[in-house]
Amino acid sequence: MTTFELLKKVCESYGPSGREAEVSKTIEKLVKPLGYKCTTDALGNLICHKEGKGTRLMFAAHMDSLGLIATYFEDGGQIRFGAVGGLYPYRLLAAPVRFANGAVGTVEKDGDVDFKDLTIEKLYIDLGVSSKEEAMKLVKVGDIAVYDSPIKECKGNMAMGAYLDDRAGCVAQILAMQMIEKTDNDLWFVFSTQEEVGLRGSKVATFAIDPDYMLACDVTHSDDMPKAPHVGSCKAGCGAAVKVMDRSVICHPQVVEKLVGLAKDNGIKYALDVIKAGGTDAGAAQLSLDGVPAGGVSMCCRYTHSPNEMVSISDVEDCARLMAAFAQAEF
Ligand SMILES: [Zn+2]
Repeated sequence: MTTFELLKKVCESYGPSGREAEVSKTIEKLVKPLGYKCTTDALGNLICHKEGKGTRLMFAAHMDSLGLIATYFEDGGQIRFGAVGGLYPYRLLAAPVRFANGAVGTVEKDGDVDFKDLTIEKLYIDLGVSSKEEAMKLVKVGDIAVYDSPIKECKGNMAMGAYLDDRAGCVAQILAMQMIEKTDNDLWFVFSTQEEVGLRGSKVATFAIDPDYMLACDVTHSDDMPKAPHVGSCKAGCGAAVKVMDRSVICHPQVVEKLVGLAKDNGIKYALDVIKAGGTDAGAAQLSLDGVPAGGVSMCCRYTHSPNEMVSISDVEDCARLMAAFAQAEF
């Protein structure tokens, strides 16, 4: 399977925060043949372990996505919803969405609301029905819709669609697992849950694994837009973005140094990454147990949390190469 085909398969699986079973099953099928022991914990984390006597290394990429959770039904069948994770109201306008049972619809705003006053509360999901009764046959309170934007291949070696944050990270981990040849290190690859609602899955996984080092693989800001506010330091196509800092973590200097050294030694394209907004699973891991030296490798993502995110396919592969090198390194 090509990297693009993997991205398509993993990104298009249903899996909003707290409801990751389907995407977890998709990933488990892909990694099972690689000889890992796969278990699922109480929070739904998919934990893949290959035993070794060496350094205990934990990798985490979150498999949960943002979602729209049904809260209220209007008489006309329109569904009001709350945010699961960081939804921006303007990104939701006209977004195609689907529920777990396959019911599809679009998001619109109330007719009397000005764009500048847009909030989640002024939006609704239209499933194409005309009454509350019809809508309630399809969806109940607490059901979660996700963006229904298939992954496409753009020019410029870019994948476009929903939830490259962070299924691209999941794919990078799968590729890394495929690339690893020989090591004594004790390897733990976690496909974590509930990252988008507060880095919850990786926290409990870190307690279970008790790693010597932890790496999060996630997306980062792509600082390549016109009139960009320069809140980040990397851009799409830069290779593996080696995290130095985000809002959740100041990466352990030894981990940053190790990653940079491995990138140089193995000829892997990389850049140093500082972002002023957003967090990753590394933030939760470093504060678990009595503290864990943590870091991250990331792919730059344009239009994060929109239905049409963009990530460079070669960046996904560079992140995989760097994680595979880290997995096989001596510490
Ligand atoms: Zn993410």
